[in-house]
Amino acid sequence: MKKHVFNAGPSLLPEEVYASAAKAVLDFNDSGISILSISHRTKDFDAVMEEADALFRELLHIPDNYKIFYIGGGASTHFFEIPANFLGKKAGYVNTGVWSKKAIKEAKRFGEVEVLATSEDRNFTYIPKGFAVPADLDYLHITTNNTIYGTEYHEDLDVEVPLIADMSSDILARPIDVTKYAMIYGGAQKNLAPAGVTFAIIREDMLDRIVRDLPTMVSYRTHVENNSMFNTPPVFPIFVLKETLKWLKSIGGLDEIYRRNREKADLLYGEIDRNPLFRGTVEKEDRSLMNICFVMQEGYEELAPAFMEYTKARGIVGIKGHRLVGGFRASCYNALPKESVEVLVQCMRDFAAEHAR
Ligand SMILES: *Cc1c(COP(=O)(O)O)cnc(C)c1O
Repeated sequence: MKKHVFNAGPSLLPEEVYASAAKAVLDFNDSGISILSISHRTKDFDAVMEEADALFRELLHIPDNYKIFYIGGGASTHFFEIPANFLGKKAGYVNTGVWSKKAIKEAKRFGEVEVLATSEDRNFTYIPKGFAVPADLDYLHITTNNTIYGTEYHEDLDVEVPLIADMSSDILARPIDVTKYAMIYGGAQKNLAPAGVTFAIIREDMLDRIVRDLPTMVSYRTHVENNSMFNTPPVFPIFVLKETLKWLKSIGGLDEIYRRNREKADLLYGEIDRNPLFRGTVEKEDRSLMNICFVMQEGYEELAPAFMEYTKARGIVGIKGHRLVGGFRASCYNALPKESVEVLVQCMRDFAAEHAR
């Protein structure tokens, strides 16, 4: 049976990407060698890095004074590396959920952290807005998409201090203005690649703001100056990332993927709002395009396990909500076809027809 994969991460990648990844594992560039066994210091892999860089820049309109680099270790490694590099006196953080909290916890090891705004008072069901940003911050950190709760910033913040954003779960899902950010980073396993590679886009002048002497691998200068090649980079995940960027360009880039993502989200949120058995969990204006959370309507809570079984029988995978929210979470990343959302929506309709009172 065809599977409809709504996994939150690692998540679905385009079919074309699976195919070229599989081919490269067997024979990379018709070299007779697997991509898993090549040296990262070869012309062939240099070409992969260069193409990834060029595609990233083209798709996201990244100016020349920004550098892109890759590390292992996940977004979670940047949670401590960002304050290690940049937190001298005081940093500002916005707390919009689990990932923000983890970033805040690490930052506190290095200096003063001011939480400028939080949505914890209502279980992270909205994006705080209109908060003041002190001018003396080393940087302001935000999480643009809250993978667990299903909220997302729909506009780039405009602030005077360096803005650093965790975009693990909505990178390249919509057009953004890179120049509003001093640094953008994320684990690539949601929208770009298999697990194992972590991307960062950093404005060059930030390297002059590194506030302390750091272990070589922790300093961002190391990775930028060595083109992500100070040590062995995650060769295969970077290759797959490059293939995903190629796919994204081939379908029409960010305008097209944004159109598709809105279409899928409108379809599913529309059904959540219309269907008497379900309800959404977050403020409508802050709803995520990527992680769509919903629960059983009051009075129907006991039907949740039955609905899970119902969807499973139609090939739907990965919609169990995070334990902190409960209910359901359909992650609709770039590669998820509209058809999968249609199957889920049909499930909801058919289930309601059987159970609505
Ligand atoms: C998944 C996720 C993370 C964690 O990423 P790792 O690469 O596993 O460290 C951090 N932030 C957000 C927003 C995420 O969705």
